[in-house]
Amino acid sequence: MALKILDNALLSHKINLIRNKHASSEEIRRAVEDVTVISLSHMAQLFPGEEREIETPMGNYTFEFIMEEKIVFVCVLRAGIPMLNGALRALPKAKAGFVAIKRDEETLMPKLYYWRLPDLTNKFVVVLDPMLATGGTLSLTIDRLKEAKPERIMSLNLVASPEGLERLLSSHPDVDFFVVRVDRGLNKKGYIVPGVGDLGDRLFSEGL
Ligand code: URA
Repeated sequence: MALKILDNALLSHKINLIRNKHASSEEIRRAVEDVTVISLSHMAQLFPGEEREIETPMGNYTFEFIMEEKIVFVCVLRAGIPMLNGALRALPKAKAGFVAIKRDEETLMPKLYYWRLPDLTNKFVVVLDPMLATGGTLSLTIDRLKEAKPERIMSLNLVASPEGLERLLSSHPDVDFFVVRVDRGLNKKGYIVPGVGDLGDRLFSEGL
């Protein structure tokens, strides 16, 4: 599986709340968290599972659980932060790592300036980056993640451009991409259209 578009009526509704220019930072953060949790419910079929015997009020039974400890969420700063909040609410025993990449507004080329991750050996990595625009940030992040030899890499993006998606699918065919919405394309500054504008600013610096 290389690409799964997760779009459904509830996810669209939440994404469209974010698109509204007049949504507050608080409303946007909440919608991003919700979309992440709903999306994870679609991705969970690929997560590692194990049978565990537990004591229920009706006696001992064995059930299937997700191996949360094997999952590492990689938060692409800063817009990935509310995604991480949602993800850790759903799977609180998962681990988290942080990546910061700045896009040069002139060249649109990504520059890595912060990288803090736990050991990824044999781990299931889920990259949380809401906007897949040119694909430069995500591609660089995945290149670096592969050097740490995780068992599997998945990526969750809320809004993608067709050109960014095509780039990622051809450069990383071994990664599982989950995308909520694919929009029309990119403008000259590399923003997704219609997209949501600058999500990092809208999440944390309302009124800028
Ligand atoms: N980052 C954003 O916040 N929005 C875009 O449209 C592209 C990259």
